[in-house]
Amino acid sequence: MTEAFCILIHYHEIALKGKNRSWFERRLIKNIKRQLSGLPFSKVQLNAARIFCFGIDESMWNDYAQRLRKVMGIKHAILMTQVKDDIDTMKSVAAAQLKGLEFSSFRVSARRQYKDFHLSSQEINIMVGQHLQSTYLKPVKLKNADMDVVIELVKGMAYIGHERIYGFGGLPVKTSEQAISMISSGIDSPVSSFEMLKRGVELTYVHFHSAPATSRQSIQNVEEILTVLAGFQIQCRVYMVPLLEIQQKIMADTPNKLWVILFRRAMIKIASMIAEQLAIPALISGESVGQVASQTLSNIRATADAADRPILRPLAGLNKEDIIRIAEKIGTYEISIEPYDDCCSFFVPIHPETKADLEIVRKTEANIDFGKMFTTALKHAEIKTFEHPDYVRKSIDRLEKVSD
Ligand code: ATP
Ligand code: MG
Repeated sequence: MTEAFCILIHYHEIALKGKNRSWFERRLIKNIKRQLSGLPFSKVQLNAARIFCFGIDESMWNDYAQRLRKVMGIKHAILMTQVKDDIDTMKSVAAAQLKGLEFSSFRVSARRQYKDFHLSSQEINIMVGQHLQSTYLKPVKLKNADMDVVIELVKGMAYIGHERIYGFGGLPVKTSEQAISMISSGIDSPVSSFEMLKRGVELTYVHFHSAPATSRQSIQNVEEILTVLAGFQIQCRVYMVPLLEIQQKIMADTPNKLWVILFRRAMIKIASMIAEQLAIPALISGESVGQVASQTLSNIRATADAADRPILRPLAGLNKEDIIRIAEKIGTYEISIEPYDDCCSFFVPIHPETKADLEIVRKTEANIDFGKMFTTALKHAEIKTFEHPDYVRKSIDRLEKVSD
């Protein structure tokens, strides 16, 4: 019996695409190959609306799984044994796979890509199921079984496996153009960034800091968050922009009620300047309507007015607990709850404006003589590139080898 291992990947929303589906598929394959770089595989191939990774080392399944979880567009990925589409072989391979594993119930989920196989999916389920039942004396449970043995018949071959990971679905990064994400070390903006990555948007980040008035800690927290988010696009860039001088100017020249709104407008203007330089059409923010007093619709209008392009707010309608759940799932929550002093919270007055009047905000801002402060802030921005530790570790290994 000849058998080989591979990973079978099902995509998500791409399946709903029409004429341009193959363009999305090609991007997804490219992203998978990049994500798996450094792990053994011979080819990543499209076959009957599925993606197969061949020539893998099955003992490293956990490494593949961890990487594939970060590729947007994937519905799920299963470690498979590839055999000829012969029912007796399927039975024995399925039984061999479960040997030594703990489970109290199981099911078989067969699917046929070609309908001319002599058995229906249901017949395969029953035949393989009976074999497993008599081998392991465990009951079949169709709902919530401990063990789901997946069998897929694709172009004359059978693929059998039970180790599966779920992806986040959505669309492959780089299929939906680019955006600038305004990121703090809070809970929300990492989640809003993630939500847009999931829609296939490639992100460049901008973070505003008030060093040296605030500690380096908030910058470090942002860097840690970016290391996590970089995993979804392998690499990302961030502009770390000093805002302190602009904030001091605003605080000197305007009533404290409007500070936060004017800080935000300054951030949006600088983010728009970066977007213009990079020809990026949209900005992203982590605002959620009503979450804090500053995020009222009137305030959102008063800040958004400073932008020359759309600001997407993927969290606008989410509840805080939903946002926290996503932050936990993607691994940014623990970093976001570390103490830090944010550039805005640090200077927040006791009674900030909760229902800003746009005309008053515009007039107040027009009276501030910012001079060249915006271009100067941008000139002093530090641009850093982040890579996910899986890849960084590789380059450190390389460095160590060189210095040996
Ligand atoms: P977060 O948890 O993302 O910090 P928040 O609930 O603290 O959000 P605000 O402080 O009102 O909300 O900020 C609203 C949005 O403005 C943030 O989600 C983020 O997109 C952007 N923002 C806030 N502070 C910064 C900063 N220092 N640098 C870049 N963007 C920021
Ligand atoms: Mg914040």
